[in-house]
Amino acid sequence: MSGEKKELSAKERMAKPRNEMPLHKAAKRILNMDEVPVGYSLKQAMDEASRCIQCKKPVCIGGCPVGIDIPKFLKLVEEGDVKAAASKIRETNFLPAACGRVCPQDKQCEAVCIVGKKNDPVGIGNLERFVADYERENNLPRIPEIAPSTGKKAAIIGSGPSGLTCAYELRKRGHDVIVFEAFHRGGGVMVYGIPRFRLPLEIIDEDLKLLEDMGVALCYDMIIGKILTLDDLLGKEGFDAIFIGTGAGLPKMLGIPGENLNGVYSANEYLTRIYMMHADKFPEYTTPLYQGKKMGVIGAGNTAMDVLRTGKRLGAKTTCYYRRSREEAPARTEELEHAEQEFIDFKWLSNPIEFIGDENNFVRAIKCDVMELSDPDESGRRKPVPTGDTFIDEVDTVVFSLGCDVNPIVPDSSKELRVNKWGIVMVDETTCHTSIPGVFAGGDSITGGSTVIMAMGHAKNAAKYMHEYMTGKFEYELNVPTDPESPGIQWTGRFSKAKR
Ligand SMILES: Cc1cc2nc3c(=O)[nH]c(=O)nc-3n(C[C@H](O)[C@H](O)[C@H](O)COP(=O)(O)OP(=O)(O)OC[C@H]3O[C@@H](n4cnc5c(N)ncnc54)[C@H](O)[C@@H]3O)c2cc1C
Repeated sequence: MSGEKKELSAKERMAKPRNEMPLHKAAKRILNMDEVPVGYSLKQAMDEASRCIQCKKPVCIGGCPVGIDIPKFLKLVEEGDVKAAASKIRETNFLPAACGRVCPQDKQCEAVCIVGKKNDPVGIGNLERFVADYERENNLPRIPEIAPSTGKKAAIIGSGPSGLTCAYELRKRGHDVIVFEAFHRGGGVMVYGIPRFRLPLEIIDEDLKLLEDMGVALCYDMIIGKILTLDDLLGKEGFDAIFIGTGAGLPKMLGIPGENLNGVYSANEYLTRIYMMHADKFPEYTTPLYQGKKMGVIGAGNTAMDVLRTGKRLGAKTTCYYRRSREEAPARTEELEHAEQEFIDFKWLSNPIEFIGDENNFVRAIKCDVMELSDPDESGRRKPVPTGDTFIDEVDTVVFSLGCDVNPIVPDSSKELRVNKWGIVMVDETTCHTSIPGVFAGGDSITGGSTVIMAMGHAKNAAKYMHEYMTGKFEYELNVPTDPESPGIQWTGRFSKAKR
């Protein structure tokens, strides 16, 4: 009998059950900030990868904003060649460990996986995480080939996923690159927003180190728009092109009475105080935080889940208030499920209308309208409408998470930089070029709050055209919208080729 392993048929692959990601137990994990998923073993990873049927026309690649060759990397994992799988992912994705952890795969690659039509989709995100962790834990070489110096110099504003990806792509093409970051450390929302129990800090630090090892300069505590302007960078500082990756960190407010009471925070402020400024370790660190015992969180997106789960870990009884029902909650399925496992209360169809304070202006209660969903409108969407009933809950901390607008400092400092009426930086949809020659933009600054992988997708695209710009090959019919009502970039698939 031959010792060769029998190749599985497509039918057999489709029938295999998904390897669910092992998790730390909820009762234990809420006592610390350690990462919740345990990770696959090699055996589990190989088995999960063997569920891929290697479609002739792999739609999963089109579902990934950076176009990872998913079937190829899965095949390599199935064969146990994790090193080669890591190189394959790295061809298109500079932040695989982060993406494997935080990407909304359920709405992207896994949403279109053909296996998912009959069974659970292949665990593409879990496998990306496995490969990236294997690469890091085994110190596999990660520095890509770097083209000879072009003598050109690019400035990147912001060190979130868009800025870092743009820096990586431009450095690979042989340009000198400096990243300017307003904070005292790099990583953007991946560090100051997404909690450690979802994305450990050492992962981002490794990626920052990789950039430095490639020769990218990271310049912290530098607010572009205040200390230096776009004109300064293109003028006296001698940069040949600029990428704006300043994100969307300006919280949207609720506009209800009591919003200014003590103990009421925006999600960004709450999370930044904890994850960037270590307020949870006050007074060892000097940033204070009023962390109460009964915390109300408004909203049901990913950020709200992060706040709820963080508050839980800091010892509060946490309740989510959302004006629609669970089905409409915008959070990733996994985040919602993890929050539910962690003993968080959910008050669906509850719309806050007032925060009530005490004589010292500290928040003490939250008043909500009880809502119901209307019949579907022409678009099929059911609107939340008040039933006429209200209720009041005691709280001593409130965090609202209603999304964020684009950071305004750079646009405010440069009138030539075109933005729409919501402050979103307007770019030519194909090249990511703005209204100022040589200035490109990407990430949340051109879409409003979006995702890590989308930010990376724009940045890769922008880097490609910045390279052409800096090497004198950029001759396109640019179309930077002038209509203030024009929305930001809406992603409809991977980027098309520009018309010269
Ligand atoms: C709490 C939270 C949880 C999230 N969870 C997920 C998730 O699970 N999955 C997912 O895919 N996405 C998630 N997102 C969204 C995702 O993090 C963002 O879409 C992504 O980080 C955008 O990347 P960016 O590079 O455009 O901007 P950012 O990550 O916001 O980075 C922008 C950087 O620019 C810096 N900056 C701003 N202005 C200036 C200036 N004038 N000068 C110099 N530097 C400046 C900022 O300090 C920041 O470091 C989450 C967002 C939040 C807030």
